[in-house]
Amino acid sequence: MEQVIREEIRRFVLESHDNRFPDSDQPYFDAPLVGFAAAHDPLFSEFKNIIGDFHMTPAEIMQNACGCEPEQAKTVICWILPISEATRKSNHTAQRIPSREWALTRAYGERFNTQLRIFLVDMLKFAGARAVAPLLSGMWRPVKDPKVGMASTWSERHAAYVAGLGTFSLNDGFITEKGMAHRCGSIITDAAIPPSVRTCASPWSNCLYYRNGTCGLCIRRCPVDAISRDGHDKDKCMEYAYGELRDTAGKLYGVMETGCGLCQTRVPCESRIPKGKAGKQD
Ligand code: SF4
Ligand code: SF4
Repeated sequence: MEQVIREEIRRFVLESHDNRFPDSDQPYFDAPLVGFAAAHDPLFSEFKNIIGDFHMTPAEIMQNACGCEPEQAKTVICWILPISEATRKSNHTAQRIPSREWALTRAYGERFNTQLRIFLVDMLKFAGARAVAPLLSGMWRPVKDPKVGMASTWSERHAAYVAGLGTFSLNDGFITEKGMAHRCGSIITDAAIPPSVRTCASPWSNCLYYRNGTCGLCIRRCPVDAISRDGHDKDKCMEYAYGELRDTAGKLYGVMETGCGLCQTRVPCESRIPKGKAGKQD
């Protein structure tokens, strides 16, 4: 089952025409990374303390969506869709607004990510399993929390961490073996699949700043000073990405959501786990 799911996700990403820019044959995303988390991994309960009690466990989502008993939730299937090299590079010269390629990837690439969620849920149901995509379950909602700021009832990146796909970073990104420039997704199922092993030394060890106190290059990339050595100011970032950029980049490219991604490109963690110390992009 594990190998079939890995291969089906890979095939869907590499072959789908919807993983293509509207005016070229270039893909939004390269070959995916896939990981599996145990639905009853204690970390999912800990997220209620770390993020907030509004963050749902896989069992709660399965119970609500499928009407099954909590213990029937078995596996969270997680994936990372690395943004293509051409799109990443197109954002290197961006100083204030993202490139057109980046913006279309945020808008239409994320629509493709939704199709991937639907495809996997349907595939598992066809195989006789129960499955639900948290973001499409009707239970996902954004939450403004006094302790952690903007959050939600299900974090794709936190699920990906449990599935051993990477670690968090100074700018609140998620650094995988294919770097930080990606979109991610997950579904929950009652199919039992062995969980992937978490090999990272800590929840932040892929980020050079947290690993050895160096780097910090994402700080300089942010046009609105939303990143500092104290971390990421989510409110400032969101005001820019979902406010000003809708009026500037959104109108320029004809899409509602453009993302920003400046702090995810032209940095050492853009497309890999950075090695060693960094005083400049290596
Ligand atoms: S640019 Fe450097 S400090 Fe910023 S997230 Fe990447 S590795 Fe961490
Ligand atoms: S996404 Fe843009 S606004 Fe937000 S922290 Fe990164 S560079 Fe700054």
